[in-house]
Amino acid sequence: MEMADETFQRFSELDLPEALHRGLEKMKFTEPTPVQAATIPTALKGKDVMGIAQTGTGKTAAFGIPMLTRLHDDRYPIGLVLAPTRELAAQIHKVLEQMAGQGLKINGSLVVGGESFRKQSNQYDRGIDYIVATPGRLIDHLRQKSVSLERAEILVLDEVDRILDMGFAPQIEEIMRHVPKKRQTMLFSATLPPEIQNLAARFLHHPLHVSIGGPVAKPVDQIEEQTVETTAAAKQGLLIKHLQEKKGKVLIFVKTKDRCEILFKVLNREGFGCVRLHGDCSQGERKKALEDFKQGRPAIMVATDLAGRGIDIVDIEHVINYDLPHSREDYIHRIGRTARAGRSGTALNFLTPGDIDGYYAIMNKKAPKRVVFRSHRKR
Ligand code: ADP
Ligand code: MG
Repeated sequence: MEMADETFQRFSELDLPEALHRGLEKMKFTEPTPVQAATIPTALKGKDVMGIAQTGTGKTAAFGIPMLTRLHDDRYPIGLVLAPTRELAAQIHKVLEQMAGQGLKINGSLVVGGESFRKQSNQYDRGIDYIVATPGRLIDHLRQKSVSLERAEILVLDEVDRILDMGFAPQIEEIMRHVPKKRQTMLFSATLPPEIQNLAARFLHHPLHVSIGGPVAKPVDQIEEQTVETTAAAKQGLLIKHLQEKKGKVLIFVKTKDRCEILFKVLNREGFGCVRLHGDCSQGERKKALEDFKQGRPAIMVATDLAGRGIDIVDIEHVINYDLPHSREDYIHRIGRTARAGRSGTALNFLTPGDIDGYYAIMNKKAPKRVVFRSHRKR
């Protein structure tokens, strides 16, 4: 394990390509966030990095700046960034384009499902410096031989614990057979549960380990967390009451696509303009929902965990867990959609009698010996 022996106070101190400095200036990035200060100098040297830092603290630039710089300085390799959802991949792609947009001449390609396969192949053929991809579509290209990862000497796994969990494991294994052994690997997330740690270590070679905010993952302090006790039958009414009181953007999480669809319809019928995002929506619907919500027209989005990871909409003020998530990690990521980049926000959890067992694990609290449930407590 290597320590971060080098750090910096301002981006202007770093030896980056001039065009990248201009890009960062344009984005108003002058001082690094803690995870950026701790990892960028080491990553610029081509070393491996395992970076754990809270939601909304700038992990994208922590890998983006070194990757773009190294691709600029050595034109042979390409970079590969994997992300768990199309939406997150598109967002990362956009941030990298912004950083490179002031004349860096480093070009990337977004390789995700739901978009034209041919266009992605053609773009690859014309020559690209990096790929931002979701695993499924990247594998389609690898099997068709329309994309090669022979030169992918810089590998980034964003939301690494999600990317390496059971759901993605076979896909990642297949992709890794195409990536060179000799490479730089950068892994980032806000959470890294113990069962993934060993797996992640297998990707790394003498890495720098950085863990901002302590060894145990936790939400950022600027989130005010609240739990209300309710029942399955009373939930809808309670949500409507809360929505009537809340100002600003609200992101509501539910546990299934069906429940997402139902709640979306109910809220619209009740006069709350809202959009919905889940895996059964068409690509067009997914894009439009996120875009509309970003613009604040409307200001309510109902989503599954598809929107739980990485999405950076800085003015989301409230997250409501209408249905509780499955794990502590999912909880941290969901509520981390608010209070980003130093802002504050609220998280409201709806707790029904059936949720009690999971609740204490999610909140990282010890369960009391006996839970006395008060479903109609006055606040
Ligand atoms: P994370 O991946 O850690 O959740 P992001 O990379 O999405 O966080 O960044 C969160 C927000 O912080 C983004 O809106 C980004 O523009 C902003 N940000 C990142 N780094 C800086 C910086 N050095 N200065 C100012 N804003 C920053
Ligand atoms: Mg991120």
